[in-house]
Amino acid sequence: MSFRSIEQLLRRNSKTKISRNIVDRNHDQKEEQLVQSLRELLLASKQLPDKFDDYYVLLRFLKMRGFNILKAKEMFLNMLKWREDCSVDAIANDFKFEEYDAVKRCYPHGFHGVDRFGRPLYIERVGSVDLSKLMQVTTIDRYVKYHISEQEKTISLRYPVCSLVAKKHIASTTAIFDVKGLGLNNFSKSAREMFAEIQKIDSNYYPETLNQLYIINAGTGFRALWKVLKTFMEARTLAKIQVLGTNYLNTVLEAVDPSNLPEFLGGTCTCPTGGCLLQDKGPWTDPEMIRASKEAFGKGQKSFNELAATIACESFTGCQVGFDTGENILRKQVDEQILEKIRELEHCAAKSGETLQILICKQQELTGHIEQLRKILQ
Ligand SMILES: [Zn+2]
Repeated sequence: MSFRSIEQLLRRNSKTKISRNIVDRNHDQKEEQLVQSLRELLLASKQLPDKFDDYYVLLRFLKMRGFNILKAKEMFLNMLKWREDCSVDAIANDFKFEEYDAVKRCYPHGFHGVDRFGRPLYIERVGSVDLSKLMQVTTIDRYVKYHISEQEKTISLRYPVCSLVAKKHIASTTAIFDVKGLGLNNFSKSAREMFAEIQKIDSNYYPETLNQLYIINAGTGFRALWKVLKTFMEARTLAKIQVLGTNYLNTVLEAVDPSNLPEFLGGTCTCPTGGCLLQDKGPWTDPEMIRASKEAFGKGQKSFNELAATIACESFTGCQVGFDTGENILRKQVDEQILEKIRELEHCAAKSGETLQILICKQQELTGHIEQLRKILQ
C-alpha cells in the first residue's frame, strides 16, 4: 500500500479517535490517558509527592520521553532523586545570590516581559560576557545554584502569573541569546563546563520548559562553536532553537512585540536605571499579580483532577491549551520522521516482494529440474 493510500485511508477513517489524532495532530485525549497512566503508576509505588501531582508536570516528562510511560517515570524519579541530593527546595527558599548585581554587570542576562503568546521572555547577551570578571565575582557552583533558584522561581511564580495574565496555561519560556562576538576562541573551558552543567540540569530536571530559543547575531566564529555545543543537547531541545545572523529582527518580532524587546536588540523598550536586563521586568513583579496568582493556584499547584477538568472544558470550547506554534512545529517534525519511516518500510516491503517473486521462480525452476531428473531415472 502506498503512502498516499495510507494517508487517504486514515482521513477516511478519521472518525475514529486514534486515526484522527494522527491526521489532525490533536493528541489531547490520548495525552490525558497517558498522563493518568503515569500518575497511577507513580501513586501505586508511592513515588508522587503532592507538590508534583500536577497534570502539566507529568505531561512535560511524558513529552520529553516521547510519551513512553516507563521512560517518563524513570526520568521523573531521577528528578526527585536529584532534588533530594542537591537540596533543591533549600536552594529555592534560602539561597542568597549576593553577587547578583556584580554578575549581571559582567554577564548581562535576565527576564524581560513576555512574548506575544504571554510566555516569559528571557534574554542573554552571551557575546558580552566578561568571563574572567565573572569567575572573580562568583564560582561555577554558586552560579549553577543561582540558575536553579531562578528555574524554581519561573515555575512557582513566573508561569502562574503569566497564565493568569494571558488567561491560558503558560509553562514555557521564549529566549533570545545574543551571541555577537562569541566564538570558539573566547569560550573558555570553565564557560563550557558551566554551559554543560546548566544544559544537563535544564533538560533532565526541567524538561520542556523552553518554547523557542532565538540565537541571534551568529557569525562564523559562533557557528563553529555551535557544532561543539550541539553535542551537549537533546534532539528535542535542538528542534526548538533557531540560529540567526544579523538579520534576525523580523523573525524575532513574529514572536515578540517591539515594546517587550530592548532597544539594543531592535525593539522599543528602554528601561530606566541600569537598562532592560537588570529589572526582572514582567507581570510577576507586580505584588497584586503575585497575590492573585497565589489565590488562584492555592498551595502552589492546582490539583490534578481540577486541571484535567479545566483542560476538558477548554478543549471543548475550542480554546488552545498548551499547543502553540513551537509545539506544532515539533509535532510536524516527529510526524515527518514517522512518514519517512513508513516510506522506508514500504521500500523494504517492495524489495522483499521482488525477492519473493525471484524465489518462487527459482522454486518452479528447481521443481522442473527434479521432474526431469525423475524422468531420467524412470
Ligand atoms: Zn526594557
